[in-house]
Amino acid sequence: MTIMKQCERCNSSFATRSNTSARWERLCSVCYTEKRREQLISNAEDKTARNISAIEDRMLALEETLNSHVPALVGAEVSNHLENVIGQDIIDDLLKRAMDSISNSMQSFVERQIKFEAKIQRQMTTLNNKIISLMKDKGE
Ligand SMILES: [Zn+2]
Repeated sequence: MTIMKQCERCNSSFATRSNTSARWERLCSVCYTEKRREQLISNAEDKTARNISAIEDRMLALEETLNSHVPALVGAEVSNHLENVIGQDIIDDLLKRAMDSISNSMQSFVERQIKFEAKIQRQMTTLNNKIISLMKDKGE
């Protein structure tokens, strides 16, 4: 048993599905379908809006995280590189000083060696002269 009602949207007459549904049916089938479609679109739009809002929130949170952590990370990275650079400089400086020191020591050693050899040479010459002198004395 259906009841005839007037559609609240398009004002056309329509037959309700049953006596029971007549209590809540306010739209003809065309308008009802259209309303359902609009609701679905509206729900989808709401869902999309909520998703976009959630994505925006996450992006803001990410941005905040980046803003608060990246400078520290970049700072650490820069100081790490800086330390490496300074470390290399210090190592280079130490190596240069060590090489200079070794070079100076070698030079000093060689100079002393040359002086020592010259001194020995002079002593040998003196000794040799003395021997020659003694031989001459004996020969006379
Ligand atoms: Zn209608």
